[in-house]
Amino acid sequence: MRFNVFCKENSIDQCDKIIKTLVEQGNIFTNDNPEYIISIGGDGTMLRAVRKYYDVIDHVYFIGINTGELGFYTDFLPNEADQIIHSVTCSPNYNHCPLLEYEMVYKNGSVVRNFALNEITILNSFRTQILEVTINDNPFEVFRGTGLLVSTPSGSTAYNKSLGGAVVDISIEAFQMTEVASINNRVYQTLGSPILLGKESILKLSSPNFNQATLTTDYMFDHLDDVESIKVWLSDKKIKLLTKCNHTFWHRVKRAFLGK
Ligand code: NAD
Repeated sequence: MRFNVFCKENSIDQCDKIIKTLVEQGNIFTNDNPEYIISIGGDGTMLRAVRKYYDVIDHVYFIGINTGELGFYTDFLPNEADQIIHSVTCSPNYNHCPLLEYEMVYKNGSVVRNFALNEITILNSFRTQILEVTINDNPFEVFRGTGLLVSTPSGSTAYNKSLGGAVVDISIEAFQMTEVASINNRVYQTLGSPILLGKESILKLSSPNFNQATLTTDYMFDHLDDVESIKVWLSDKKIKLLTKCNHTFWHRVKRAFLGK
């Protein structure tokens, strides 16, 4: 296989060893159109690797080697190079994880597009954040509280899960909106439960005032002061993630949250 690696900063020694082992087994380590991107680190490293290779995402496969702690996206351990080769050559098994896409419309009319592998959040720790929630151009609710999180199926086990959102099988083409500390009383009301939106849905979150609110996209963040609205939908783009033979998404959920 033709491969390149994306390494966590403090895993350079382990990366060198893994590259050496794979090259000794006849694989080609290259910057020039690699087929496989091996992320060596934890889940944060995979999030960063996907961002780096987004432009060629339709043409590459990702492999996660876990030198971190939880390793939800990383099915292999540093000493399992043999299993990687076996998984690639014998019976490749890929999880196809859909991404989210979003578009931020600024007050001056400019538009910025981006994507997320896990989730985006709109959070305001200082003020009650008002968010007008529109689904496919139909007003749905007016949220008041700390904020909202929108996650992919593979991101459903991350921040979304900590907020009580559902864990979603990655084969379901849907995305989820989860509330963060909504205000619910006889004056202000929200649905109060996470919702799953289908592939064709477009969620629009707008606000009269995003003052001091932040947008996070996986591990990155931005200020929303000059933003008017954000549209989110499930992207056609997916990452192809090599898994161990016969390992399903639910094996990974079990391993990460219930132990072996
Ligand atoms: P990080 O890499 O330390 O990740 C934080 C934790 O989230 C780690 O334990 C990691 O293994 C786990 N994680 C990441 N993606 C996961 C996934 N898809 N399924 C299960 N667990 C997953 O920190 P970072 O580099 O800042 O990563 C950003 C991610 O951290 C965000 O995408 C968000 O999902 C997560 N996060 C979680 C919380 C929370 O649960 N309260 C708060 C902030 C951020």
